[in-house]
Amino acid sequence: MSRNRRVHAWSIALVCALVFLFSASPLQVLRANQDPVPPPAAGQDPAAPAAGRGAGRGGPQPYASVVTNAFTSDDGVFKVHTNKSPDTVLFEIPNTQLDKDFVWDVSIKKTTIGAGFGGQNVSSRTVRWTKRGDRLLLLNMDYSITADADEMVARAVADANYPAIISTLPIAAYNADRSASVVDMTTFFKDGVAEFRAGAAIGGRGVAADRSFLERAVSFPENVNVEAMLTFTGGGAADAGGGGGGRAGGAARGMRGPSGTVVVHHSILKLPDTPMMSRNYDERVGYDSDNKVSFGTDEHRSVRDQIINRFRLEKKDPNAAVSDPVKPITYYVDPATPAKWVPFVKKGVMAWAPAFEAAGFRNAIQVLDAPKDPEWSAEDARYSVIHWVPTQAESQTYINDPRSGEILSANLSVYPNIATYGDTWYFVQAGAVDKRAQKLPLPDDLQGELLRFVVSHQIGHTLGLTHNLKASALYTVAQVRDPKWVKENSFVASIMDDARFNYVAQPEDNMDPADLIPKIGPYDKFAIKWGYAPVPNAKSPSAEHATLDQWARQQDATPYLRFSTEGAAATDPGDEAEAVGDMDAVAATSLGLKNLNRVAAFMFAGTTSKVGDPWDDLETVYGRMVTQWSTEMGHVAKVIGGLDSQQVHIGQQGVRFKTVPKAKQVEAMQFLLANAFQTPAFMVNTDVLRRIQASGAVDRVRAAQAAVLTALLQNARIDRMTEQMTIDGPTIAYSPLQFLMDLRNGVWSEAAKPGTAISIYRRNLQRTYLSQMDQKLNGTPAAGAEIRMLVKGELKALATQVKAAAAAPGLDEATRRHLVDAGEEITTILDPRIPRPAPDPAAAAAAGGRGRGGIR
Ligand SMILES: [Zn+2]
Repeated sequence: MSRNRRVHAWSIALVCALVFLFSASPLQVLRANQDPVPPPAAGQDPAAPAAGRGAGRGGPQPYASVVTNAFTSDDGVFKVHTNKSPDTVLFEIPNTQLDKDFVWDVSIKKTTIGAGFGGQNVSSRTVRWTKRGDRLLLLNMDYSITADADEMVARAVADANYPAIISTLPIAAYNADRSASVVDMTTFFKDGVAEFRAGAAIGGRGVAADRSFLERAVSFPENVNVEAMLTFTGGGAADAGGGGGGRAGGAARGMRGPSGTVVVHHSILKLPDTPMMSRNYDERVGYDSDNKVSFGTDEHRSVRDQIINRFRLEKKDPNAAVSDPVKPITYYVDPATPAKWVPFVKKGVMAWAPAFEAAGFRNAIQVLDAPKDPEWSAEDARYSVIHWVPTQAESQTYINDPRSGEILSANLSVYPNIATYGDTWYFVQAGAVDKRAQKLPLPDDLQGELLRFVVSHQIGHTLGLTHNLKASALYTVAQVRDPKWVKENSFVASIMDDARFNYVAQPEDNMDPADLIPKIGPYDKFAIKWGYAPVPNAKSPSAEHATLDQWARQQDATPYLRFSTEGAAATDPGDEAEAVGDMDAVAATSLGLKNLNRVAAFMFAGTTSKVGDPWDDLETVYGRMVTQWSTEMGHVAKVIGGLDSQQVHIGQQGVRFKTVPKAKQVEAMQFLLANAFQTPAFMVNTDVLRRIQASGAVDRVRAAQAAVLTALLQNARIDRMTEQMTIDGPTIAYSPLQFLMDLRNGVWSEAAKPGTAISIYRRNLQRTYLSQMDQKLNGTPAAGAEIRMLVKGELKALATQVKAAAAAPGLDEATRRHLVDAGEEITTILDPRIPRPAPDPAAAAAAGGRGRGGIR
């Protein structure tokens, strides 16, 4: 299936964590993202017949009787005539535009609370108008099946793939010289045609005609945009419960009430007459791609493959090693952008220029101020625009040509509230090293650099690049701390990683503070060259194969050019979001914790300089520190039972997956026992806590530690360890039996030292341990037989230990009762006949993962 438009709105924030860089919780984003829509004006009669409607029944009518004076007209790729009383949209399509391909994109632009979200893509398809007598047929073109043009099979594919007819449109009138046909398109914008319906995406079942209005229709040289405000009915009283669909993977919400009003945006864009030559996708390099089924390969059989999305970049002088492009990739800066931020936005774009230079293109990318010309419009699909919009979600979208993957037009939305969110993140991650960041708010020049970073990352997406979460694990910790290395190569190999700021560098490393923010890295240059550099003399995508394979193989000798291995995100400890230096997560996290302690020393003074303000900054910073701590511990947890990976193809040395050596796994385990399950001082700082909340500190610590423990005890991890033990043997693998024993001895270390008091934090941790074990034996679904066997053995051993510990003389009463209680709990867990109380919902929520910043 072809995807013509990429949306990176908040809904995909789980994928694009950078969206979250400057945003608060998803809930806040959702709320802020929903602009209220003004109530419809009264007194309009939607049922009145439209001029031009029905004209086809008696054949085409005189032009002036169809396109009456009541219409306003806009000329462009074709003329668009609009009448708002009653709502009517006529397209006047010249014969020259018949049988040409257009992308027709439907999205939700604005919404009432609860129904979808602004920027949500609804559908995208390729269409064509074709003439048959006094009718135009609207055809649905499908380019997911292709064949090399010079192959005989192309004809057969074309015959077997005849386009579906979406609609038959009677021609209402011809223009004077019959060079153009006027058709009534109104119903397409009133949710009346299945292929372009927006209602289903938000859980609406029908359109309330009396509460729906045509907003505007404009035409540009290559595109037509139409917007309608539609009110859908049929939503439930509360959340429609999964009625929200869309393609955002369940992120869209159904309507909250019985009605929902949204502004639906239709963009109809003409595709190039000659499609660009496509480039086949390769899992070793991270590009967005479209699936294709291709016929007519050398083997004369069909193979499933994919093509990458990228701009069309052609050398002016094909023989020059480095040439100007025929047409540069051009971005325009929204005139609404405050002047002080414009230079940083531009810097974020131009940071990509050296990557294109290395790929053989001089002046390949440029960024311009939007022209003052009133004819210029950000809606004109010929222009890629960086919008400055008052929403709480950065987003970027592009429209591409499904035939070739060519990116035709891109739009970025930059979130202006940058000062509110990005600064606390930088304060926590880089404040220990960058003195400018030890006090909020951050100075403008530093905030500008944060903006520059976000723009660069989002521009990377519009160039076709996907995240490369492996990039943070491709440098050694020594490199991440080496000012010279970082100056040249950044501290992550790609700006398309979701790493943020260099929290590993230490004050004594003397890092230039400017280098604590990610830059375009070696992987980015490699990926741009791989995707954009022409392959000499290749006349078809298959002719590029050998060269592209050779280019990809540079990853063998230069590991920091590598990309995330397909399907390894859950198992490769180097494939992590929000990580720095995770080639050695233990070393990186050790250094990260040192910095967190440094931040703790100035967090109070640094967030309380604005006399008269509430303590919001302090609370935000505290929350961020707890999240940062959890995130870094999560990187260490992933080492246990992990598999290092590299995407290699046949002909390359080595395998794709390698078990992390036992010594590394054991080291990670010991690190967590010594650090994750002891209470960090900053988390229980009373100066801070007594100003931000009356109670809940103990629970915050419990939740943070529970998240680490829960992550460690994932069934999938223990299953992997069992498999590693079987395949690799005990010298390479860390046995799950040993792992569970080490964990028990660490979490219950007090029980081994009779007379030791157990703090409330440790008691909570130990309770979490028991509830996790209970889950494995009695939860739904329970763990597999192998894990159950191991868990039962652990609980029986623990029962003996706690019984002995509870009997120790001189023990404080709280500790003694806790140990007795633990013993009784174990009895209950091991005996399924004993009914147990329903789990505490708060604890269950904590155990179920804590979203972003938690442990994944
Ligand atoms: Zn991203």
